[in-house]
Amino acid sequence: MKLSIIGTGYVGLVTGACLAEKGHDITCVDLDARRVDQINAGRSPIYEPGLDSLIGKHIGQRLRATLDLVAAVHDTDATFIAVGTPFNGSTIDLRDVRRAAHDIGAALRTKTGYHLVVVKSTVLPGTTEGVVRPEIESAAGLPAGECFGVGANPEFLSEGTAVRDCLFPDRLVIGASDSHALALLKEIYAPFPHTPTIETTPRTAEMIKYASNALLATLLSFANEIANLGTAFGSIDPDAVMRGLHLSQYFRSRNRDGLPPIVDFLRPGCGFGGSCLPKDLRALVAHAQSTGEPVTLLRAVLAVNHRQPAQIVSLLDRRWLDLHGRRVTVLGLAFKPGTDDVRETPARAVIEQLLAAGAHVTAYDPVAMGNFRLLIDDAHLHYAPDLNTAVAEADAIVVVTAWPEFREIASLLPAGSARPFLVDGRRSLTPAPFPDYVGVGD
Ligand code: NAD
Repeated sequence: MKLSIIGTGYVGLVTGACLAEKGHDITCVDLDARRVDQINAGRSPIYEPGLDSLIGKHIGQRLRATLDLVAAVHDTDATFIAVGTPFNGSTIDLRDVRRAAHDIGAALRTKTGYHLVVVKSTVLPGTTEGVVRPEIESAAGLPAGECFGVGANPEFLSEGTAVRDCLFPDRLVIGASDSHALALLKEIYAPFPHTPTIETTPRTAEMIKYASNALLATLLSFANEIANLGTAFGSIDPDAVMRGLHLSQYFRSRNRDGLPPIVDFLRPGCGFGGSCLPKDLRALVAHAQSTGEPVTLLRAVLAVNHRQPAQIVSLLDRRWLDLHGRRVTVLGLAFKPGTDDVRETPARAVIEQLLAAGAHVTAYDPVAMGNFRLLIDDAHLHYAPDLNTAVAEADAIVVVTAWPEFREIASLLPAGSARPFLVDGRRSLTPAPFPDYVGVGD
């Protein structure tokens, strides 16, 4: 099928490249000319493993990028909206979604034949039918039905493994407002015949996405709260506690061969960040509160997460009462390994608290330093060009993101007691080579 996708971020571009791989003809649309040029030159504007080669393989054939939304809508049978939906402090910000819907509607004024509009962005229940559909109707001057239909198709990919997640999804959720829209959505996903699929209304599809993120965020804050309790009680091995939970039959894979991926969430760390869990939880909580629901648990989940960076910094207090003048290296700026995304990364709060305590902070990340510089511009924060330089001469090293290459740092440091104090904010290193080691939850 001929499909257009509005937004070439982590979701839109990965979806476009993967649907091209599956045989569809894809036109990606963005407002950012630099992104469009880069994609058309066969390169990905974002760091995502496997994406460059997929774009290189299909660009100029089944994949192209453009600034021209009208032509993209005219030339395709369906359009996905995959633009950002940030939380603006009091509610979900639908500006980009509204603008995309309006522009699609305006394009439909001069298009003949049926067109499907699919909301892939994460939006609150009711948005596809209550905001996107009327926006298209008013710009198109047409009611939904004969000429166009709407659907919701939330995305579950995870940054760092987005290409794999999109090519081999664990589930498909398709919410359609009528049978024509449903038939087209099924045709789009025909190349995924073995993927478990839920066919439902747009409203329920939208809720499934929030429920999924709320569950993951709850598990992460649960793991962190248990680890923090262990710290407070003392003499508790947090890894054994987590392993004890992982071995529950509820978390075992069916064949009992290895552990299921959910255990990655039930692991203490610096707290969750990224472009989805924090903003989606806040939007859901704000929306629920506006209906009079107290949402006690989810508010508590956010509160536990908010405290977690301070918990990491407090581990340094075990060594020094005053961080003033201490040289502290922070390893990892991305919100998780495998991505250059720094949105809501816990590294920001950790570094801000270290700087506020008077520490001299050096930061290093293999791919996210460019993006992080846009977040914090502080004369006291230095960026190291490589891992070797980052760890040299540090009084303390704080691991914030569990990049696999950080497991090698023991080999870069002097032997014995000259080694810096190591604070493992992800419990991702082997403690043995560090005479002075503390992990989150210890
Ligand atoms: P992003 O910020 O990386 O990308 C959004 C892109 O849309 C940008 O390139 C922007 O220039 C473009 N854009 C905005 N308005 C536009 C318009 N009117 N016309 C054309 N282009 C426009 O966003 P993202 O991380 O890909 O997230 C997109 C949506 O998917 C969000 O709702 C998010 O919650 C959801 N989601 C994200 C992830 C993730 O891991 N990032 C996973 C699942 C769902």
